[in-house]
Amino acid sequence: MTTDKALVLVIEDEAPIRHFLRAFLESQGFRFLEAQTGEEGLGLAASHQPDVILLDLGLPGLDGLDVIRRIRQWTPTPILVLSARGKEKDKIDALDAGADDYLTKPFGVGELAARMRVALRHTSGGATEKPEPVFRVGGLVVDLAARRVRLAGAEVHLTPIEFKLLAYLVRHAGKVVTHGQLLKEVWGSARGDQAHYPRIYVHQLRHKIEPDPARPRFLRTETGIGYRLEEADAPGPDPGPGPGPDPGVDSSGNSAQQSEK
Ligand code: CA
Repeated sequence: MTTDKALVLVIEDEAPIRHFLRAFLESQGFRFLEAQTGEEGLGLAASHQPDVILLDLGLPGLDGLDVIRRIRQWTPTPILVLSARGKEKDKIDALDAGADDYLTKPFGVGELAARMRVALRHTSGGATEKPEPVFRVGGLVVDLAARRVRLAGAEVHLTPIEFKLLAYLVRHAGKVVTHGQLLKEVWGSARGDQAHYPRIYVHQLRHKIEPDPARPRFLRTETGIGYRLEEADAPGPDPGPGPGPDPGVDSSGNSAQQSEK
C-alpha cells in the first residue's frame, strides 16, 4: 500500500464534513475524490473506481440508499455510510442494501481510521477474503479449522451454534453485523419469532469468551443495530495510522455499549 495509495471517494453534501475528511485522509496518505450529490458520486465511482466509498445517507436528490443499491449492481467496493445518531433504522437499511459499515456523526479520526483499515483489508483480500486460520485478539484465540477456542490459554467449550456464531463474527471481525445478518447466516432464518436468538446466544458466548462478560472487550454491542467483534491483533510491526503508541486497552467511551445484560 506504500506504492499504491488507496483512492477514497467521499459523497457528502455538507462541506465542513468533506473538508474534515479530506484533511484527515490526505494526511494519512490517501488519494481523495469528492462529490456533493449521489448522482455526481455515481459518476465518479464509475469513472475512477475508488478503493473505498464514504457515503452520507442524507443527500439531496438521489438518496444514499439508492446510491448503495446502484453501486452494488456493478461493484463490491467497500461502502462506509455516514449517518446521524438516532438513525439506526437508516443504518440497518443501508447495511442490508450492501453497505459494509457505518460511522455515526460526529465521529473522530480514531474511529474513521479503524473503519478505513478494516474496509481496505477486505478490499485488498479481493473477492476471496484471505481466511486467517487462527484469529487472535487479546487473550482470545479462535482456530477456525480446528474448531478450537482458547481464552488466556484455557480451552473454551462452545456448543455447535455458539461456535457457528463466533466463526461468523471472526470472519467479519472489525465490521458491524446486524441482528438480521446473524439470524440469516447463523440460524438460516428470518423468522420474527427467532429475533431474540442473537441476543441470547451473544449473552452466552460472552460468558465463555470475555474475561469480564459484563464489560465486553471483544464482542461489542452496536446499540440498536447488532454486534462488532474487535479486529484481530496485528501480526507484526504495524506502520498503521496515527502517531504515538496505542495503550492497547480501550478504556474510554464504551459505557453505552456495556448496558446489555
Ligand atoms: Ca447530508
